[in-house]
Amino acid sequence: MNLVYADEHGNVFDHPDYVGLGRSGDMIVEIMEEELIPLPNGATLVSLPFTRPIGLNGKTGEMEVLKNGVQAVGALLPQGFTRLCLPGYVKSDKEQKLPLFGYTAVVWKDGEFFVTAEQCDDPERWDPLNCDQQELQVRVEGLLEKYPDNRLYKHLSNCALGYECLTASNTFLGRWEGAVPVSYSCNAGCFGCISEQPEDSGFVAPQTRMNFKPTVDELVEIMLEHLQEPESIISFGQGCEGEPSTQAKIIVEAMKQVRSRTSNGFININTNAGLTDFMRAIVDAGLDLMRVSTISALDEHYNAYYKPRGYNLLNVEKSLKYATDQGVYTSINYLIFPGVTDREEEIEAMLGFCKRTGLKLIQMRNLNIDPESYLSIIPKPQGEIYGMKQMLDIFRQELPEVVIGSYTHVPPPELRRKQLLR
Ligand code: SF4
Repeated sequence: MNLVYADEHGNVFDHPDYVGLGRSGDMIVEIMEEELIPLPNGATLVSLPFTRPIGLNGKTGEMEVLKNGVQAVGALLPQGFTRLCLPGYVKSDKEQKLPLFGYTAVVWKDGEFFVTAEQCDDPERWDPLNCDQQELQVRVEGLLEKYPDNRLYKHLSNCALGYECLTASNTFLGRWEGAVPVSYSCNAGCFGCISEQPEDSGFVAPQTRMNFKPTVDELVEIMLEHLQEPESIISFGQGCEGEPSTQAKIIVEAMKQVRSRTSNGFININTNAGLTDFMRAIVDAGLDLMRVSTISALDEHYNAYYKPRGYNLLNVEKSLKYATDQGVYTSINYLIFPGVTDREEEIEAMLGFCKRTGLKLIQMRNLNIDPESYLSIIPKPQGEIYGMKQMLDIFRQELPEVVIGSYTHVPPPELRRKQLLR
């Protein structure tokens, strides 16, 4: 497994004299054969500016930092693949921050690129190659013409055509999981927020947060247009907005109007679930699916990353448990990071959280962040670090009833709320 590096122009090469290495947190680690899979379709290779790759000298067996203007290379994985190691590198300029992406170790082996990853879900529906841009253009124009006054469709048309957001695109293509953003504000200040970053953070938010409050009618139009198939999902809580439950009042009214006209599909919310009372109202209005974003079940870590305003992890747990008890198909969007999520204390705490809340699905989400910055704000490791592959196995063993996946799924028939309520 040869080290992969890039020159100052971004051209990528393998180095036959060096073995590629990975990172777990800030620790350089050797890559195990069983951690490697071929580079999946839809993955991207990127060079990491202001870095130097570290490799194992094939002759001396010594770890060495490669110099002379070369940079480390990382892979950005598509949905469905869980990252096991970061690329093996050091920063040549510690002041520089890498953009908000999920960098994965990559090596050259047997004539092709391999990455340290494990497939946790079927990537088919989230493969950008399965989104026909010409058909999308036509469908966007069609819905903008059909709903000329709907500001949300206008907002989503930029998400679909500008950002190439697949959830927004699905909203226009009338398939799978669609998006209905609703909030311009948030009750948290996540370190790696993708829709809003403080000016002095050193990060650029890849998306612009919506800046208006939609009407109930605008929500209802999008929801009814999308919920035409029995298995379609419409989701509040997108990357281009704040925390949806801050708009609980219009969400509840829109859900009631929609459910009075159709029982098709599933209504989902992606949320930080900190506003427990608002979450209860949304659950009581007929919510089908709930995905709670989290990074840890340990207060100190959670607070360091989410910077919650007016809520804490206990609120999150109460919201999730209430929803599960009411028959909602609940999951977490687990922001994971090699050398952190696989710490003994993190695993123990998260297993407890999952068991207490009764959630049904864990969506493993590779954290998109500059590794050095993230590691500098969170607690230092306490216990053993097991490795991400072993962490996944522990979750499967300890939580046999829980699905380990990567994105929101339609629940199995026996776990559908409709069955219970109607
Ligand atoms: S909860 Fe979402 S919108 Fe709010 S700060 Fe975090 S990432 Fe951003």
